[in-house]
Parts: sequence; C-alpha cells; structure tokens
Amino acid sequence: MDCLFCKIVEGEIPADVLYQDEKVIVFRDINPQAPFHALVIPRQHIPTLNDIADEDCELVGYMLKIAGDVAEEHGFAEDGYRTVFNCNTHGGQTVYHIHLHLLGGKPMGWPPY
Ligand code: IMP
Repeated sequence: MDCLFCKIVEGEIPADVLYQDEKVIVFRDINPQAPFHALVIPRQHIPTLNDIADEDCELVGYMLKIAGDVAEEHGFAEDGYRTVFNCNTHGGQTVYHIHLHLLGGKPMGWPPY
C-alpha cells in the first residue's frame, strides 16, 4: 500500500517519534504550525474519518487520550492546545491515513482560516 504514514508505521520512513505502543504512534510534524506540532496516528490504516467503522471507535478515542497525555508530558496541557482531524479536500487533508494533529505552545486563533 502506498501510504506515507503506513511507511512510518513500518519504519521504512524515519520519523521523530515521541511515543508509540501497539495501537498508535506519535511523531513530530515535518512542517510544524506551532511551537509544538505532533501527529497521533493509528498503526491501522484508516484513510479518512469517513472510513471509521464501529469497531474503530475505541481506537479513535484512545488517540485523543494519548494526545492529552503527550500534551501533559510536554508541559502545555494546562495552558491548552488544539487537536484537529482534517477530512478530505475541504478539510485540508493531504495524507490519507487518519491522524490527529496536536498543536501547542502558543495561543491558537479561531476560526481556522
Ligand atoms: P493533513 O493536511 O491534515 O493531511 O496533515 C498532514 C500532515 O502531515 C501535514 O501537517 C504535514 O506537514 C505532515 N507530514 C507530511 N509528511 C510527513 C512526514 O514524513 N513526517 C512528519 N509529518 C509529515
């Protein structure tokens, strides 16, 4: 399968990994949009949020839990942070393996355009 993030899961492409376990990997985004910008991805290939099956719901919730844990570990949980799933073209998705953006270290604006 020609999926960039599957290649990171398989270790075929290097990544700055911050955390990993049997379900997820967290690594720094190659083009950070905040002082701290990491991606939480499942090891399992799920292309978009539209492809999440009932049996994947626990995994997606786990991704959010891990994002909070990483924010805590890196010292910005209390100040706050932004988590984002982009979906398809209007959502700005460019890599078709779901990933949770975790951005922190500065105040975030809203709306996001
Ligand atoms: P999307 O636009 O929501 O799909 O986000 C994809 C993210 O993956 C972008 O923020 C990219 O900077 C990031 N990205 C692309 N290739 C790599 C890589 O090889 N390592 C880490 N991050 C990457």
